[in-house]
Amino acid sequence: MKLLEDRIRREGRVLPGNVLKVDGFLNHQIDTGLFAEMGREFYRLFQNDSVNKIVTIEASGIGLACLTAYFFETLSGHKVPVVFAKKQRTANQAADVYTASVESFTHGRSYQAGIAKQYLSPVDRVLIIDDFLANGCALGGLRQIVEQSGAVLVGAGVAIEKGFQDGGKLLRESGLRVESLAVIDRMDESGVVIRK
Ligand code: 5GP
Repeated sequence: MKLLEDRIRREGRVLPGNVLKVDGFLNHQIDTGLFAEMGREFYRLFQNDSVNKIVTIEASGIGLACLTAYFFETLSGHKVPVVFAKKQRTANQAADVYTASVESFTHGRSYQAGIAKQYLSPVDRVLIIDDFLANGCALGGLRQIVEQSGAVLVGAGVAIEKGFQDGGKLLRESGLRVESLAVIDRMDESGVVIRK
């Protein structure tokens, strides 16, 4: 998606450890106009999949998931709530929560992601939305949670996929439809190369 790609080229900064910093529009300050365009694009890509719930993970996925849900709701005419997984440090889980263990790419430690059982069920057709895809742990954890609930997972939409890391390849090979709005082929201190 050109709007996002241009923004990454202009403002993205590469940090040690393969981290792309895009705090100016995605991870700290939010450009809501850009988010709306990304949401509209996710709607275009998944509009025929009868999505009735959007699942993401706190914190950075929430804004994008909400803008995406807005398009699904207003253009499809039915309710499409957003449910975000909460990050908990302890493995102690209540019986009424679906959980999965996720290794954090940016913080280098594991946490439990959880969604209350009352918010996911077999009648749901779920689209997962997140900001970044790197090794695929966050999406993999959300997928496990959705599967535990018996809901149908129609696919995942991510803003930025780091194509030089394995997550996207592994998830697609396992049968999940993954749509990324910008794919980074390589990046280093001299800049970012985005896939054509
Ligand atoms: P994964 O679980 O696929 O390895 O990593 C995805 C998660 O880690 C995303 O939810 C995102 O919050 C974070 N992340 C991974 N790579 C980057 C990156 O290069 N920049 C930023 N800002 N976040 C990242």
